[in-house]
Amino acid sequence: MGPYRRRPPPVRKVQGMALVDRVLLGPGPSNPYPEATAALGAPLLGHLDPEFLRVLDETCARLRVVWGTENARTLPLSGTGSIGMEAAFANFVRPGDVVVVAVNGLFGERMVDVAGRYGGEVVRVDHEWGQPVDVERVLAAHPAPKVVAAVHAETSTGVRSDIGALAVAVHTRDPGALVVADCVTSLAGIPVSIDHWGVDVAYSGTQKCLGVAPGLAPFTVSERAWERRLPKPPTWYLDLNLIGAYVDGSNGGRTYHHTAPVAMIASLHAALGRVLEEGLETVWERHRVAGERLREGLGELGLELFAAEGHRLPELTTVRVPDGVDSAKVRQILLSDYNLEIGAGAGAFATSVWRIGLMGHNARLDRVELVLGALRRVLG
Ligand code: PLP
Repeated sequence: MGPYRRRPPPVRKVQGMALVDRVLLGPGPSNPYPEATAALGAPLLGHLDPEFLRVLDETCARLRVVWGTENARTLPLSGTGSIGMEAAFANFVRPGDVVVVAVNGLFGERMVDVAGRYGGEVVRVDHEWGQPVDVERVLAAHPAPKVVAAVHAETSTGVRSDIGALAVAVHTRDPGALVVADCVTSLAGIPVSIDHWGVDVAYSGTQKCLGVAPGLAPFTVSERAWERRLPKPPTWYLDLNLIGAYVDGSNGGRTYHHTAPVAMIASLHAALGRVLEEGLETVWERHRVAGERLREGLGELGLELFAAEGHRLPELTTVRVPDGVDSAKVRQILLSDYNLEIGAGAGAFATSVWRIGLMGHNARLDRVELVLGALRRVLG
């Protein structure tokens, strides 16, 4: 038989994702807000449909509130949190620019890699994992960096760093330096205040405290940074000049750049609506209370926390695996017997630490009691 006369392959039964309703208490994704899930089922609109553009504009406006910014250039980028990281360095780092990166976990480490790929002369400031960023050390690392970058909520260690103090220190010395903040695990979980802090470029991801599936990277850029953008960054997809012509309708028509992921944006729009209706401060408080009760309960189980005291994130708790306990086995039992996911540790702590997330819709006391009860039984 010639190549064009082959018999068609047998039709196989295609199996989709199992419809198992897991409780996602790992480092993300978290269970989305019901409003975000419901929005995914709405009829699809074209990406230039006026009704969709209204939703997009409103999504950007809602993001401004959650970011705590008036930045005109605030938008959801297509892609996961890492796309935000790429866009931050691709659009604002020129070859040879000194980029100081605070590294206190996996995602600071990733910033070093990404900034270097876009030609940055990276000066890394290493911290012990589990500790927050030390502003003085970051400042002392180089006298005149073009960019200083740090992670607000280090998901690999469960540590919160004081991005506000870092931004103030950097700009007091040099108002022209840009501060880049990774807010993937902080946005809509703990206070983020871009304008008040003076952060220039920040990005997040939808699958953590924003309570949406993974797939978008909320992004915001200050005027100071916008003036410093590359006119033609070495990436077409993430060129903010091109994306802006679609997202920002104020300069006349919308220009097609890429097909916007309309369903995901509708879902983010719905989740942001839910968060703002509940009230941003109430949402932060819900995370704070849940995190506090979890830490308390883990202590009652005799477990030891990993992140430095005073710098622990309520939305992501790191706990040491007790001696003699098989960390993977415990996670597997939680998953198979309780439909409950918690995370392994990251990097060198893969088997010695667990990561328990209480993000967005999961930042609730019933989730806390669920995971504490399951752990009590499994470890018992
Ligand atoms: N930065 C932080 C702090 C993260 O927690 C993550 C993901 O967990 C990322 C960046 C990367 O995001 P994504 O995995 O959505 O690409």
